[in-house]
Amino acid sequence: MILGPPGAGKGTQAVRLARRWHIPHISTGAILREAIKEGTPLGLQVKAILDSGGLVDDALITRIVCERLEKPDASSGFLLDGYPRTVPQARALDTFMDGRGPLVVAEIVLDDAEVLRRLAARMVCSECGRNSQDDRAVASCHDCGGRLVPRTDDAEEVVRKRLEVYHQQTAPLVEYYEARPTFRRVDGDRLVDDVTEALVRAIEEVT
Ligand SMILES: [Zn+2]
Repeated sequence: MILGPPGAGKGTQAVRLARRWHIPHISTGAILREAIKEGTPLGLQVKAILDSGGLVDDALITRIVCERLEKPDASSGFLLDGYPRTVPQARALDTFMDGRGPLVVAEIVLDDAEVLRRLAARMVCSECGRNSQDDRAVASCHDCGGRLVPRTDDAEEVVRKRLEVYHQQTAPLVEYYEARPTFRRVDGDRLVDDVTEALVRAIEEVT
């Protein structure tokens, strides 16, 4: 499982690690969208809750994630991204993992100032929507040549709010996991490849 603030490259790292070990990358957002699209009983339940403006509670999210983890492609490992978000979810995951091998928790650490700096530099193509982490000196999209503009959800106030929510949610989780021998912290303030290498080393050390 990977934890990390917005801008730490968690998504990119998750994709790389999943590919490296041929395990599914299980992101909660993607599972929810998939369940809704497939119209499974759980999906319909989630859709009804979201349509009415409600929040999907711990128990329901856990059922959906565990249902996904029981599929055959996850039998020899998986990478969780976006779950658990709360301590009750973490406890439920422990129950699920009982007898299934170690749960490795890797936290990518990046201080708030660096998160703000990175997100302020994040641009998006006004034509095709491709994200660009390049600095502002690059004016056009690699893919289509469209004009790059700052991502609107990366406005400083929004980012500060997201960071606040992240710290509030994550601090209890880190507290829940950090005493375990399978908990690892990795410095995210490095090149993407170096972060990948550090994650691989940290995870291989404990599996
Ligand atoms: Zn483009």
